[in-house]
Amino acid sequence: MLKTSLLRLSESPTAKKVITRAPISRSFAMRFVAGDTLDDALRAARALNDADLSVSLDFLGESVKSREEATEAADMAVRIIEAIVRDGLNANLSIKPTQLGLDIDEAFCRQNIERVLGRARELGDGQGEIFVRLDMESSAYTERTVALVEQLWADGYQNVGTVLQSMLRRTGDDLERMLALGARVRLVKGAYQEPDSVAFPDKADTDRAYVEQMKRLLESGTYAAIATHDDAIIDAARRFVWERGIAKEGFEFQMLYGVRRDLQTRLREEGYNVRVYVPFGDSWYPYLMRRLAERPANVIFMAGSIAREAKADGIKKPAMAVGAGLLAGIVATVMLRRRK
Ligand SMILES: Cc1cc2nc3c(=O)[nH]c(=O)nc-3n(C[C@H](O)[C@H](O)[C@H](O)COP(=O)(O)OP(=O)(O)OC[C@H]3O[C@@H](n4cnc5c(N)ncnc54)[C@H](O)[C@@H]3O)c2cc1C
Repeated sequence: MLKTSLLRLSESPTAKKVITRAPISRSFAMRFVAGDTLDDALRAARALNDADLSVSLDFLGESVKSREEATEAADMAVRIIEAIVRDGLNANLSIKPTQLGLDIDEAFCRQNIERVLGRARELGDGQGEIFVRLDMESSAYTERTVALVEQLWADGYQNVGTVLQSMLRRTGDDLERMLALGARVRLVKGAYQEPDSVAFPDKADTDRAYVEQMKRLLESGTYAAIATHDDAIIDAARRFVWERGIAKEGFEFQMLYGVRRDLQTRLREEGYNVRVYVPFGDSWYPYLMRRLAERPANVIFMAGSIAREAKADGIKKPAMAVGAGLLAGIVATVMLRRRK
């Protein structure tokens, strides 16, 4: 219920206006976002590299509706790749197909992605090309994203991979399609609101599917990305690779910037490869709402902070007051329903 409400709010322009205007929202978002600029992101990446963690940089933005904006996003992706090489960072790139124009025109989006992949290939150091991952958005884009990776591979761009979401019923088949190519897969549970016809309504089914798909991916020999903060799943991965004699170099754990830093460090200390997903930019609203949806405690904390800030201000700022009310309302509704 809370998850559904927050994921709905993530697509609402009114909620966006209200919530982004509350200063506390921005400061809360900055727990999960490295900053507004590429320089902020590069500083965060350097600090993570210094802690022996690798990075995937992501310029926030999605559902872009104009060609100019999509072209600018591709320009930024190229700038990120150039900065990674210039600064000698242990980092790669994550991009969202709808940020590069998938909603506008598929051929145009593909041209933008090819431009990014071409530059990533040119600038790759002696160890190979810079890797670019297409993040997975809602199920409305799954087939197009998987097919895009297949086309790009057929055209010789093999420095591209994607993300598969265990919550989707189709993911077992998509995993086989990606493994048939040899494309790298990041396995996640899935962060979008989906109908029961395409996704498991029950989290336990998603978790079960995740473990099954994770084993298939780890055994396949392609470099796997196990992206989760779930202790039970991480333990299952460790046990599985130990039992099967799979080398720690053959896969990596991935986690989000600002989430479970303790676990990131611990896994690295145990000798596992760990990559942190580092988003930056000022289009953080939908990203923040998805992070809130993943953990009710985040919402309660944020609603409380907004309410305190509004009270201290004598609720003079209408946007802040509405923001507090909105979040507090969601939390109250959920609590009441739980009691029932
Ligand atoms: C590197 C990376 C890339 C991702 N890319 C995509 C993508 O392209 N497409 C997509 O749909 N999804 C993506 N996701 C999000 C993913 O789908 C899940 O929504 C998210 O990872 C939460 O699920 P979980 O596996 O951590 O397990 P959960 O069962 O949701 O959480 C397990 C535990 O992790 C902690 N935790 C989880 N989320 C948070 C949070 N937001 N704040 C604080 N603690 C938290 C809590 O302790 C929680 O109990 C990505 C996730 C990661 C780590």
